[in-house]
Amino acid sequence: MAKDKTLLRVKGLVKHFYLNQGFFGGKTVLRAVNNVSFHINRGETLGLVGESGCGKTTLGRTVLRLYEPTAGSIFFNGLDITALTDGELLPLRKRMQLIFQDPYVSLNALMTVGDIIGEPLKIHKMARGKQRRELVMELLHKVGLSPDHINGYPHEFSGGQRQRIGIARALAVNPDFIVCDEPVSALDVSAQAQVVSLLEDLQQELGLAYLFIAHDLSIAGHISNRIGVMYLGRLVELAASDDLYRNPLHPYTRALLSAIPVPDPDTAAQKQRIILKGETPSPIDPPDGCGFRTRCRYVREACGASVPEMVELAPNHRVACHLAGKV
Ligand code: SF4
Repeated sequence: MAKDKTLLRVKGLVKHFYLNQGFFGGKTVLRAVNNVSFHINRGETLGLVGESGCGKTTLGRTVLRLYEPTAGSIFFNGLDITALTDGELLPLRKRMQLIFQDPYVSLNALMTVGDIIGEPLKIHKMARGKQRRELVMELLHKVGLSPDHINGYPHEFSGGQRQRIGIARALAVNPDFIVCDEPVSALDVSAQAQVVSLLEDLQQELGLAYLFIAHDLSIAGHISNRIGVMYLGRLVELAASDDLYRNPLHPYTRALLSAIPVPDPDTAAQKQRIILKGETPSPIDPPDGCGFRTRCRYVREACGASVPEMVELAPNHRVACHLAGKV
């Protein structure tokens, strides 16, 4: 039987955090992720973009079951993993890995590179002794580092090299799916390009699927097959990358795209930057109806009446806006 091409499917995912409200008790609800649905095919990259605090990182971690979902479901390789226990999840953890945002803090400064990359092999009892050491050396080579670096410590490496070590650690257990949580945002521009290119090469070679989280639409657009745009814990647009760039339908996506610098001065002169007014509202006290209505230049009274649902306005192009296609 042919394998289903969908590797990950997320339906109506919700993640709320319940915060204590000081001395007199009571709980405040932080609505980090609200009713998010999407899928990722095998070997595909889905980019996830939005400003800091929009819920992208929480979504990535909830999908990996590092956070308990409040509601909704997560299917991995056809299996409903939403309510699996830690013990039941352990064998699946090998297949779903995470690359962290900041290579300066995500590697244990007291461990050698060999121990850092070899740790998942130890946890999952996949290799020991000489065999583990040889696998670590192969992984170093795979991510473009010298196998001689095996005895080094994180502080001896540049930011780009440290992120390569983080990638090698994620690859050690042969995953099918990796959540890349802003993997290049702490790096300088040339290291960013090199790490993105490495991730693309590894995807080609190993058939990996990525959820690539970024606040920068230009980087996400470069690596992603499709892009989801998040605002205040909700997906507001989801489309193939080219389609999203050519024909953004949500006012927020248009504002994000307008902020991308254009190298050609003539095109840049024609391009109109959309400056968003105000700040993103707090996920503790989001506006009624459309979460973007406090900053949207097209806002109407109806926008506060109900949360706009994602609708497919063009083939495989979904958007959540009451006026989509009319503005
Ligand atoms: Fe703007 Fe209204 Fe669309 Fe929200 S629903 S994005 S406020 S036009």
